[in-house]
Amino acid sequence: MTDFTGLATAGRIATPADADWDEARAAWNLAADQRPEAVVFAASADDVAAAVRFAAEHGLRVAAQGTGHGAAPLAPLEGTILLKTERMRGIDIDAEARTARVEAGVLSVELGEAANEHGLCFLPGSSPDVGVTGYTLGGGLSWLGRRYGFACNRVAAIELVDAGGEPRTVDAENDADLFWALRGGGGGYAAVTALRLELLPISEVYAGALLFPAAVGAAAVRAYRDWAAAQPDEVTSIVRFLTPPPIPDVPEPLRGTPLLTISAACIGGQAEGEATIAPLREIGEPIMDTFEWMPTAGLSRIHMDPENPVPGIGEGMTIAGLPDEAIDAFVAVAGPDSGSPMLLSELRHLGGALGRAAEGAGALSHLDAGFVMYSVGMPMTPELGEAIPAYLKTIEDTMRPWGADGAYYNFTEGPCDVDAILPPEVCERLAAVKRRWDPDGRVVANHAVAAAEA
Ligand SMILES: Cc1cc2nc3c(=O)[nH]c(=O)nc-3n(C[C@H](O)[C@H](O)[C@H](O)COP(=O)(O)OP(=O)(O)OC[C@H]3O[C@@H](n4cnc5c(N)ncnc54)[C@H](O)[C@@H]3O)c2cc1C
Repeated sequence: MTDFTGLATAGRIATPADADWDEARAAWNLAADQRPEAVVFAASADDVAAAVRFAAEHGLRVAAQGTGHGAAPLAPLEGTILLKTERMRGIDIDAEARTARVEAGVLSVELGEAANEHGLCFLPGSSPDVGVTGYTLGGGLSWLGRRYGFACNRVAAIELVDAGGEPRTVDAENDADLFWALRGGGGGYAAVTALRLELLPISEVYAGALLFPAAVGAAAVRAYRDWAAAQPDEVTSIVRFLTPPPIPDVPEPLRGTPLLTISAACIGGQAEGEATIAPLREIGEPIMDTFEWMPTAGLSRIHMDPENPVPGIGEGMTIAGLPDEAIDAFVAVAGPDSGSPMLLSELRHLGGALGRAAEGAGALSHLDAGFVMYSVGMPMTPELGEAIPAYLKTIEDTMRPWGADGAYYNFTEGPCDVDAILPPEVCERLAAVKRRWDPDGRVVANHAVAAAEA
């Protein structure tokens, strides 16, 4: 057992000796059983540097964590300090320069609201309480993504503590290799203390969700596919089968009801947005229709993702395209008559700027696929804890004929290295960055980077 009394921090150090250890070591994803040597709740970049130096002196490793949304592939963390950044919540907006400096613990909804006060927005995804840092380092697939690309390619500079414990600011001119790797290659190269992000001059959008009974089935998914294919880059959307759990957080008529939902965000005017969504309203009689003209701060809530820690076992896969047979297979494995134990299975529309190499891009420049599929189940019983991983494999096997190469980092939740996610030439460059900046493998990420010579 390491003695942590020599680690000076303005935050807090929790160890297994503490009465609240189980709470301290928990991740947002309650299915992740994290058992680090200690948890450091850093209050500042100085605390992060102190923790990294302490780890180096004591032969420990360091795993940075904002919220633990992406914690499933990270556990069990032996010999590792879990460096939680949830106390580092500062946001500075420079409205004139259209930039934001966000500390490592800032949540998506917090940045969305702060930017919106200035008539601006960043590139939010579907979860309000996901950490901006982890989301961005893994890519950042946003509601505005088909128009503006991945969030990682709207980063101007990154403040960090390197694996030797030195604070630095990296950007396109300074330590450009490290700056490149952190933008889409995950966090396994350094501990990030703040991001400087470009903001966009968009204050309102037409966005929301249509909830249909899942019985609308394959015909609805086909109608969605045809509609999505005809949309300009200004429209980003998701279709999914969802069975909300029978818990009080879910409105009464929806509890346990199998649904097909279509969510979308439309950049442009309100009338234009209404006209864009109109054909989707013809798909069936919606149980609920939440589309409205709304501030961009509301975008991270249109998909109704959970805002409190929950247990989840999920997995993603990239899909090249959706011919009718692929849709039939998807409905058979994930639809209302499939017997699926999952909470949801969804298809997120890519293309547009998400499919084009971004100028000056980081490790994730674009994704060469038509859709990202993602499924997740809640292991509320031991039986479900066994059934869900087995069924994830069934879904993957079923959809494999239409799979694209590679995966999407943020939706890869099984334990694997970045080599299983990003293209080989990108992984070779990432390995070189790892060798240069973290030769001792001090920094642990949810997907490891092999430092071995290629
Ligand atoms: C309900 C839900 C909805 C989601 N929706 C979207 C979506 O719309 N689009 C999308 O792209 N993704 C989405 N995700 C995936 C999400 O972006 C990833 O899980 C991401 O890793 C979360 O980042 P985090 O910081 O909250 O999580 P964490 O688990 O805290 O971090 C994940 C990883 O990021 C790295 N990291 C975090 N902080 C630091 C740091 N300070 N320094 C260095 N590395 C760091 C670490 O390697 C860490 O293991 C969703 C996930 C969930 C559970």
